[in-house]
Amino acid sequence: PGFWMAIRNIVKDGDDILTKVCRPVEKFDEKLATLLDDMAETMHDADGVGLAAPQVGILRRIAVVDVGEGVIEFVNPVFVEQSGEQECVEGCLSFPGEYGLTKRPYHVVVRAQDRNGKFFELESEGFRADACCHEIDHLDGVNFKTRAIRMLTEEELEKLK
Ligand code: ZN
Repeated sequence: PGFWMAIRNIVKDGDDILTKVCRPVEKFDEKLATLLDDMAETMHDADGVGLAAPQVGILRRIAVVDVGEGVIEFVNPVFVEQSGEQECVEGCLSFPGEYGLTKRPYHVVVRAQDRNGKFFELESEGFRADACCHEIDHLDGVNFKTRAIRMLTEEELEKLK
């Protein structure tokens, strides 16, 4: 983190880029590091808990997640384990003001690379598992509204506030 970071524009619903499949990252260079820094900054600025590269207009398999425990960076993430089930209330920085009820695995293990290309595995449960699923979905052009059992009503939204 530092003064050189920049907040990027978040792509909103209706933009085609949100429906496209992202390509893998092959180069672990300064450009990738800058993008990851910017994505974290953009996510925090927007009070989000996750952000995927297509949401800032880049069709690469990159996502960041921060559910209040610090930023996790995923490059080329894949699920190696998914188990259990949970009902989640989800929103998305690309769909401001919209929330839906989804069913996600309660427990996931993600295998990914860090900004230097080093492989790691991260186990998550509950809210963080949900965030991982939501962000990795974006890399395949899938948004939470596709996954939603139903969207929340105005009344339910009021209660969330
Ligand atoms: Zn999203």
